Amino acid sequence: MAPAQYRKPPQLPPTFTATPESLITDTQRLIDRSRDVQDSIVKNISPEKASFKDVLLPSAHDDNKMAIEAHIIGFYQAVSTDSKLRDASTEAEKLLDDFGIESGMREDVFKLIDAVLQRKEELDPESQRLLEKDHKSYIRNGLGLAGPQRDRFKEIKKRLSEISITFQKNLNEEAGGIWFTPEELHGVPEDLVSSLKKGEGENEGKLWLTFKYPDLFPTQKYATNAQMRQKLFVENENKCNQNVPLFKEAVVLRDEAARLLGYNNHAEFKIEDKMAKTPKTVDDFLGDLRTRLAPGGVKEIQHLLALKQQDLKERRLSDDSSRYFLWDHRYYDRLMLEKDYSLDQQKIAEYFPLSTTIGGMLKIFEELFGLVFVEILGDDRDQLAESTKGSDIVWHEDVQLFSVWDDESEGKGFVGYLYLDLFPRTGKYGHAANFNLQPGYIDENGKRRYPATALVCNFSKPTPKKPSLLKHDEVVTLFHELGHGIHDLVGRTIYSRFHGTNTVRDFVEAPSQMLENWCWTPSQLRSLSKHYSYLSTDYEQAYFESSGETKKPSESMPHELIAKLLSTKHVNDALFNLRQLHFGIFDMTVHTPKSHEEIENMDISEKFNKLRHEISQLDGAEVVDGSKGWGWGHGQATFGHLIGGYDAGYYGYLSSQVYSTDMFYTVFKANPMNGKEGRRYRHTVLEKGGSREEITLLVDFLGRQPSTEAFYKDLGLA
Ligand SMILES: [Zn+2]
Repeated sequence: MAPAQYRKPPQLPPTFTATPESLITDTQRLIDRSRDVQDSIVKNISPEKASFKDVLLPSAHDDNKMAIEAHIIGFYQAVSTDSKLRDASTEAEKLLDDFGIESGMREDVFKLIDAVLQRKEELDPESQRLLEKDHKSYIRNGLGLAGPQRDRFKEIKKRLSEISITFQKNLNEEAGGIWFTPEELHGVPEDLVSSLKKGEGENEGKLWLTFKYPDLFPTQKYATNAQMRQKLFVENENKCNQNVPLFKEAVVLRDEAARLLGYNNHAEFKIEDKMAKTPKTVDDFLGDLRTRLAPGGVKEIQHLLALKQQDLKERRLSDDSSRYFLWDHRYYDRLMLEKDYSLDQQKIAEYFPLSTTIGGMLKIFEELFGLVFVEILGDDRDQLAESTKGSDIVWHEDVQLFSVWDDESEGKGFVGYLYLDLFPRTGKYGHAANFNLQPGYIDENGKRRYPATALVCNFSKPTPKKPSLLKHDEVVTLFHELGHGIHDLVGRTIYSRFHGTNTVRDFVEAPSQMLENWCWTPSQLRSLSKHYSYLSTDYEQAYFESSGETKKPSESMPHELIAKLLSTKHVNDALFNLRQLHFGIFDMTVHTPKSHEEIENMDISEKFNKLRHEISQLDGAEVVDGSKGWGWGHGQATFGHLIGGYDAGYYGYLSSQVYSTDMFYTVFKANPMNGKEGRRYRHTVLEKGGSREEITLLVDFLGRQPSTEAFYKDLGLA
């Protein structure tokens, strides 16, 4: 049971008891209220009298209240087990989006906001920023356009919102896979093989391998049969084909909309209010990085190809040994780590049971940022539920719930709620991500409202013989996503609009990426690790049985193993970053056509595959199955980022890395557990969210302008 001082949060957690009907009525109620607020502003205030307090503030308060319900309404589609609820959630999101488009184009409201801006009142910096951003967003919504053009613009926006929702829904509901015989899965870890669904009838004797991460990645890494890896890779690149026309339509419509507003292309429109400001800055950055990475990529391929040739020779196989394929990469990358570095990733995973790793991770964040995480279980859940039914405050029985507090040094106040939803389910969002459920803000009575944030991941489920064990890269992912979660939790802004991770897209990854460095620090790895045989006697016994060992391993990860792991940090790093570059350059390519015809005529699938080959130099099915040429797959159909808000923004993953490495090397490298710096970081950067220019936050924290030096140095490219 939680200590008394942490048992009474000043704000109850939200409930997850919606029905398909209630989702729609609630949404309608939110929309009506919001429309009333705007109507009443327009009715009661004239441009001559318009002030921040009378025009912006009522809308901002309404936005706040809308957000604490709307995010959850939309969240059901990512996590509910009930397909009717997911559908209703999708439907509700459409209604909200459409309403957002309508109200974002209201001329009568814009006139008042424009009048407020002209008035140049003395405002606090965050309110001033709200005013400027709001004003700008109306212009970006086409209010400068005349009649038919404006109608067309609105039509495009609505269609784009529909596309985005359908695209993501198709991804969530994707349920494809392949029937393999056990022989075809030779080499794949037994844990996975034994967990696969067994076929009946015509599939008797076969096993169903899905395209979900816990199935896909280990198979690509370990399946010895190259034809099977190829089949899996190619079919995975061909899933969700309903999304192919949607993707194309989206980029064509975006281009049309940008041109209507007078921009040369969609990227120019999107990047103007980001840190990079212009597509040229982005292209220069990506181009420079590509030039620097290319030679390293070629060298890595040469080495991997030699390894492949040796492997084929040893196994007396006559596969094509002159080329290094996309479906070879995870396999030989893994083999190389085992052969050249004798690194066994499964062995490392034994030291990272999910539950203790999460515990260790939360402890690190407690020390660093002055937080306390208290898991809410059993009776405590009932106490916090308005209905006194603890199951009402989570959306699924797997979900863990924590109340988060400031520690003594930070004043013992309440911080917010954190949820962890860690295992795959049918219909659930298929990647790892952080979702804001309720933002924080200051309400109209001056009272602070606290945030709620959720990590949604897809780690393999525990079995009676083994807990869920995390590969090192999954530990990194967990740190990354929890990094977004912390950013979201400690946000302390006036308006929900700027809360937490509501920063510009080319900065938002930096805080999470910075925390990934903790997973590459020996002291942290040691304190995070705990061999699973120490968790219970059952696990201990199961360990002896499965490993054939007679001696128990050490409890924490041994120093030699840590040293080995660290020595691999940059192995095949150029290829990894070239892959990121492929995504970034593809994104910029489809969003910067020279003319509208160019994008209309572009074969997106071909472009995707061709660019990947040119940038990474890896071969794909284009050289195997000549009939389809470059159009053999359509990776863009599962590239959710480009439809879900990262359009002309994927480069942000790479450019954020510049900031994150700079911050880590400058402030934390010497001592990652420096709590004084951790708290300074929390208060200077994290809690400000998007309420200031991001560059200002960085300069405040670093004490100077950010530099690319640490980034290139870390990549070995300085
Ligand atoms: Zn992220």
